[in-house]
Amino acid sequence: MRKWLTRFAPAPTGYLHLGHVLNAVRVWEEARSHGGRVLLRIEDHDRERCRPEYETALLDDLDWLGFVPDLYPTNTFRDGRCESRQSDRGDIYSTLAERLRGQELLYGCACSRKEIVESRSPGVLGSGGPYPGTCRDLGLPLTNDVAWRVRLPSTSVTFVDRWCGPQTQVPAEQCGDLLIRDRRGNWTYQFVATVDDHLQGITDVIRGEDLLASTGRQILLGQLLGRPTPATFAHHALIMKSPTQKLSKSDHDTGVRDLRAAGWTREQVLTAAETGRHRQSSMT
Ligand SMILES: [Zn+2]
Repeated sequence: MRKWLTRFAPAPTGYLHLGHVLNAVRVWEEARSHGGRVLLRIEDHDRERCRPEYETALLDDLDWLGFVPDLYPTNTFRDGRCESRQSDRGDIYSTLAERLRGQELLYGCACSRKEIVESRSPGVLGSGGPYPGTCRDLGLPLTNDVAWRVRLPSTSVTFVDRWCGPQTQVPAEQCGDLLIRDRRGNWTYQFVATVDDHLQGITDVIRGEDLLASTGRQILLGQLLGRPTPATFAHHALIMKSPTQKLSKSDHDTGVRDLRAAGWTREQVLTAAETGRHRQSSMT
C-alpha cells in the first residue's frame, strides 16, 4: 500500500481567511480518516505578491487553530530556510525545467498578455482562451526576459475526482502550452505545485473546486516530469462571498486575524468555516 500523504499549501499573499480554514478542516479530517499524514508547504513562488509577515501570520494562525502538520511543522519554517518553502526550492525547479528542456518540451515565449488576447480567434473574449502557440516554433532562447512554456500534447486527461466524480479535460484546449515561468522570472503556480506534489510524494490532493479545471494540466505535466502515477484528487465547495464571488484575502470580515482580534474563539472560527455562516455575526 502506498503511504497516504496530503498537503496544506497556502500562499502567503495575505492573511488566512475562512476559505483556508475550511480547506484545512477537510485536509486534516481526510488525513485522519485515512490514517495518513499532512505536509505543510508554503507556496511563495510569486516573489512580488508574497510577504514574510504574511507567512509569519499564517504559521501563528495555524498554531492557534490547532492544525499540526505531520511533515514540516510550523517551527521548521520559523527556523529559517526550509525545503518545503517554494522560495527555498529554486534549484529543484531549475533542475526540472532543465529536464523538460532536454526533452525539447520547453520554449521561450515573448508574447505580452495583450498580444495573446489579440491573437485569439475573433469572438473569443476575455482572458479565458488558450495560448495560441505563437512562439512555439520560433526557437527563442530560454533567457530571463522571455516566458517559458511547455509544449503540451493535445491529449485528453481523464480522472475520477473523489468528490466531483469522473472528469475529462483537454489542457491544450483549456490553456494551450503551459506557462511554467513568467517574464519576470517567477515560477508559475501550475509548475511548482506539480513539481512539489510529485517530488514530495503527495498521494492525495484535497483543495477547493476553483482548482478542478487545473487538475488535468497538472496530471499531464506530472507525466512529462516523470511521475508514474498521478495523485488522487478531491475538490470541495468553496465558501462564497456572494453567489458568484469567492472570498479573497482582502475580505477583512473573514480573516482569521481579524476574527481573533474581535474575540472569536477557535471553535467559533472552525464552525464558521464549516457552515459558511460568517456574514451576519462578524461585521461588528
Ligand atoms: Zn508567445
